[in-house]
Amino acid sequence: MSIYSKLQIEPADPIIKVMVRSAQDSSPDKVDVTIGVYKDEDGSSLTFPVVKKAKEILHTNDPGHSYTTMQGIPEFNKGARDVVFGEYGKNDNIVTIQTISGTGAIYMATNFLTEAGWKDYYVGNPAWSNYYQTIDFAGGKAHTYTHYDEKAQKIDFDSLLEALNTAPANSIFLLQTCCHNPTGADFSKDQWKTIGELMKKNKLIPILDTAYQGFATGDKYEDAWPVRYFYELNIDFLVCQSFSKNLGLYGERTGALHVVVQDRNLLPNVTSTLLALFRKICSFAPAWGARIAAEVFKSEELTKEWDQNVADVTKRLRTIREKVHQKFVELKTPGDWSPVLVQTGLFWYSGLTEDHIEQLAVHHHVYATTYGRINVSGLNDANIDYFCRAVDTVVRGS
Ligand code: PLP
Repeated sequence: MSIYSKLQIEPADPIIKVMVRSAQDSSPDKVDVTIGVYKDEDGSSLTFPVVKKAKEILHTNDPGHSYTTMQGIPEFNKGARDVVFGEYGKNDNIVTIQTISGTGAIYMATNFLTEAGWKDYYVGNPAWSNYYQTIDFAGGKAHTYTHYDEKAQKIDFDSLLEALNTAPANSIFLLQTCCHNPTGADFSKDQWKTIGELMKKNKLIPILDTAYQGFATGDKYEDAWPVRYFYELNIDFLVCQSFSKNLGLYGERTGALHVVVQDRNLLPNVTSTLLALFRKICSFAPAWGARIAAEVFKSEELTKEWDQNVADVTKRLRTIREKVHQKFVELKTPGDWSPVLVQTGLFWYSGLTEDHIEQLAVHHHVYATTYGRINVSGLNDANIDYFCRAVDTVVRGS
């Protein structure tokens, strides 16, 4: 009897299944709009021009490979906090710890809240699927409400309001600040204000997950408005931050967790708990991605260039959305395709059914997630027409 015989085969992530299937298709017509990585007009994944410059500086100055610190690279932590909190970043009641990207920030946040004694989570469906496993792994319990009304193709705000009004005090709400994954449907400022006021009144705990800051409006500062608004409410809350998308540092696993603490007497306890947790999972923060980001944060010139890089990416995403919509108008494709224009960021939550997606793969070499999420950056002038015609065909059932 093997010592491993009790192990089960874990369910495969549905996205990985589609990626494997797509990799096996060698058709020149293939269009892959599955995984959430920004692709450039030529279909390749983009290294931000500003990141190339930061790497050159690092190569010249060679910081070596010694251990960093448990809390992370100080210039990175300071810069990351300023990026998301703006003018409030300098305040002394935010504890920042470097994390293994956004996923690691959520892992740290959930385990930290377990230590603090809180474990009831509210997650809007659909959501980034990794939330559920992470909450479970931290010993938490996920309750759901509806984030998106599939029929009306818009946010189901009433469902969230009901959850905010009925959840017991100290329940945790995991919300995305912008470019919601997978729906691209974000709250308006008025909706955020209602959410914030209810959170404060009902003593709820917000975790704000920000993985696409800048990709909604093209302006990182504007996209981080909900974080600054929550800060102004003077409540305890947490921010999970990823630089995978808005600096294109996917594989470098670059992110941070920020914990806002109202009772300053508890700052040492918060810091100590975070450090102890990180010590267990990683000991010392990873260096390369954070050093690249820190070079950008430290330099006014590189920061400006980064702003421009993000604005360029966002502009392209918007143009693709407009082209897709225009094509469906030209083709007179049955259905309402306006959500592609309204939704923000990398993803278009298309409303295509699992059957449509299957037909797109089998008959047209088009690969998307089974729940109809399309990474719009995978479309470009060379394939938009083909893609839209394929969608038109499957929607018509012909
Ligand atoms: N949060 C959301 C909503 C995401 O979509 C992602 C990645 O796709 C993450 C967090 C984590 O990203 P990463 O761990 O790659 O930084």
